Amino acid sequence: EADQAKALRGRPGLLKDGTRIPLLANVGKPADADPALEYGAEGVGLFRSEFLFLGNEQAPGVEEQAKAYRALLERFPGRKVVIRLLDAGADKPLPFLTQADEPNPALGLRGLRTLKVHSQVLEDQLEALARADAETDADLWVMAPMVADEHEADYFVRLGKSKGLKRVGVMAEVPSIALMADKVAKVADFVSIGTNDLTQYTLAADRTLGSVASYQTAWHPAVLRAIKLIADAGQANNMPVGVCGEAAADPDLAVVLAGIGVTSLSMTPVALDDVRAELAKHTMDEAKALAAKALDGEFYHPQGW
Ligand code: PEP
Ligand code: MG
Repeated sequence: EADQAKALRGRPGLLKDGTRIPLLANVGKPADADPALEYGAEGVGLFRSEFLFLGNEQAPGVEEQAKAYRALLERFPGRKVVIRLLDAGADKPLPFLTQADEPNPALGLRGLRTLKVHSQVLEDQLEALARADAETDADLWVMAPMVADEHEADYFVRLGKSKGLKRVGVMAEVPSIALMADKVAKVADFVSIGTNDLTQYTLAADRTLGSVASYQTAWHPAVLRAIKLIADAGQANNMPVGVCGEAAADPDLAVVLAGIGVTSLSMTPVALDDVRAELAKHTMDEAKALAAKALDGEFYHPQGW
């Protein structure tokens, strides 16, 4: 079966009836472009830009960043590459940007909230991305992490467009943005759902704490209903809605996400074979039927209660 999955590598993500679900790779550092291409990713659905900042005394300059983005984009000519802006906070600390003394780091200054406070870092990163975009042929999409609502989405999208970026969107990681999805879809070019954080915040369970690890599953119907709010808003407004959290790497959940209306999936490259193979076994009608059951809680089994 593994060999069969491998044989599909050259093929795009497709349901049995031919419905396209592009399969993209999560990339944490430039070298990860190799496995992404090797496992047949159609592009990059999440480039975590933190590596550029980690271990530095200060934020890298515009040209240094542009060089790194160019190097990535050049590996994917003509293909979609989604780059996420710096996601720094007390949970992902950077000495020159973050305060370590927050009692609840996940609920503090992180993601876009940190960037808004350090607006030069935000401006420089957008500028570097626009520069790299102008000099390469990839289809660059840019998004911000930890966006709470349509106001923050609008702020970020306007700023990105003012720098010359063409496709500017937001991550959905906080329940508030799911609840406001109809309004977010009016201002963002796309939404990418970060199910790791969306699950943590929906169930109020710290994703780094072993004692509450059993809550950290996107099979929980509450998480799937939040995803559905975003997918429905996307469909109504012709706005792409991807998933780039761990949930996309679970083949059975990937089918359910497609049935809910998610339009692309991004995952760790080694998961691509199995997800591609599982999607090919189901029609969209079947995926929708499975999604209806999942949204009703049929596949979620609470542990330890
Ligand atoms: C997520 O929260 O699902 C996500 C993709 O971002 P990260 O795991 O980097 O927080
Ligand atoms: Mg996240």
